[in-house]
Amino acid sequence: MTNKLNNFDAVVVGAGFSGLYMLYRLREAGFSTRVFEAGEGVGGTWYWNRYPGARCDSESIYYNYTFSEELYKEWTWSSRYPEQPEILKYLNFVADKFKLRPDIQFKTRITEAHYDEDQNNWRIQLDDRATVTAKYFITGVGCLSAANLPNFKGLENFKGKWYHTGHWPHEKVDFTGKRVGIIGTGSSGVQAIPVIADEAGELTVFQRTPQYSAPARNHPYDPEYIRQSKENFKEIKKQMRESQGGQPVPTPTKSALEVSKEEREQVYNDAWENGGLGIFSSYYDITIDEAANETAAEFIRSKICEIVKNPEMAQKLLPSYYYGTKRPIIDTNYYETFNRDNVSLVDVKSSPIVEITQKGIKTTEAEYELDAIVFATGFDGMTGPLLKMDIRGKDGVSLKEKWMGGSQTRTYLGVANSGFPNFFMITGPESPSVLSNMPVSIEQHVEWIGDCIEYLRENGMETIEANVDAEEAWSQHCREVAEATLFTKTDSWYMGANIPGKPRRFLIYLGGVGAYRQKCDEIAANGYEGFTLKFSKKPVS
Ligand code: NAP
Repeated sequence: MTNKLNNFDAVVVGAGFSGLYMLYRLREAGFSTRVFEAGEGVGGTWYWNRYPGARCDSESIYYNYTFSEELYKEWTWSSRYPEQPEILKYLNFVADKFKLRPDIQFKTRITEAHYDEDQNNWRIQLDDRATVTAKYFITGVGCLSAANLPNFKGLENFKGKWYHTGHWPHEKVDFTGKRVGIIGTGSSGVQAIPVIADEAGELTVFQRTPQYSAPARNHPYDPEYIRQSKENFKEIKKQMRESQGGQPVPTPTKSALEVSKEEREQVYNDAWENGGLGIFSSYYDITIDEAANETAAEFIRSKICEIVKNPEMAQKLLPSYYYGTKRPIIDTNYYETFNRDNVSLVDVKSSPIVEITQKGIKTTEAEYELDAIVFATGFDGMTGPLLKMDIRGKDGVSLKEKWMGGSQTRTYLGVANSGFPNFFMITGPESPSVLSNMPVSIEQHVEWIGDCIEYLRENGMETIEANVDAEEAWSQHCREVAEATLFTKTDSWYMGANIPGKPRRFLIYLGGVGAYRQKCDEIAANGYEGFTLKFSKKPVS
């Protein structure tokens, strides 16, 4: 099926977990496929997010592909939570093992992708001015790849160095003896703060919203545990795919309010001691019921007060939003870091940042002199990476116009869009994506898209496009599920609230990985229900 060098069956954007597997899947099925990647290497998120302390919150043995048993058995993780360099090494290993690099063009950004109705193909413009065409256009851009650098007045005047956690330099940044300021206490900030504090002369943390975090209790893996996980590969894979969140943890069946205070405290305490996200999944109603939520929130607040020695500092660190409605965080010595003499905390909610000056950061109360500033200020999530490209479907309508800048973002299953034939999004808005163990959701989408494209070929069909009514129904279903929870009551990046002017809309499907997979499979089994499939004008060969 391979055509001229600039015409492919499929073009895929991004060489992270999504793009690598999509390439492998389509190539195995005989489709000519080209991946375009802005970075110089594979890895996606793990290529860009090299900040000190960067690590994943999913357990290593579940944070990998499961499409190949051989691959699963060949790779051995070193510790419970994988560090960024180890994940990057893993993805390089995958690229080498499956000889993926020849079909990836690095250092190339896609700027435009326009659907040509007459030719029934996608015309794709690259930042090196070249144009390629493809029958299928597939994005594997991740949900968190468009960095958010707040528009602080005066950043250009700062005489020191500044960094964003999501675009960290490849060479080591040496903070030894330096006065460092960090803005942001989300997952990235909470991971970076203890590590930078160890190295810097002074670290000033500029916090807008205090966070709930639980200890990760990372540790090297016992070889016996790894041996067993490899032996039980098939069962682990099944459990991951059928679970709520993409990891084989038991689904909670009890309400936090139906047990005694003592029992609840014991459960939370065990989860705290065991490390990881156990508190979040202790009871089914933590993200649904305000009173249930408060029990977990109060438990973590009590732990913060126990750990942080200075009561005034501890007070400033106490969160008050609904626990879990911003991404729950796990850490290594985060709260403990505030007991260090070289660490100070500035509350920028009560005294906001006014400007960045030549010397440092100025709030309404003081100016802080700094040698370096770290922006751990997150991303324009979900829609940001997609809308960075000018994607246009039928009649030249752009995705931005269709989604009305975000206020009307709607998709079919988080994978397709009405008005955009033969366009697929891996972990797009309104799929489980970031509220699941990402590799599991990525594999599910890649396999579904791969099967769909094979189905079209087998049946001599040229196009597939989501129907408007199916899309509306899916989008409404997503919103209804979300509105039954506390997630929509908090200002978070999940809601788009971190980007000034971005419409508030919850764009993650909360129905669970297992149920979502079943729904997608049923739709495919019913001849791609909710999609319009058009036959080729040519006879089927
Ligand atoms: P984030 O969760 O959006 O946190 C950004 C931080 O910057 C927040 O504390 C935010 O305060 C603050 N901030 C933003 N704009 C600001 C401003 N103008 N002034 C002052 N403070 C400002 O971003 P992130 O930490 O990079 O994490 C994003 C997501 O990436 C996570 O939720 C997670 O899904 C993923 N991630 C995962 C891992 C992991 O697996 N371990 C690690 C890193 C990231 P407010 O809260 O007040 O908005």
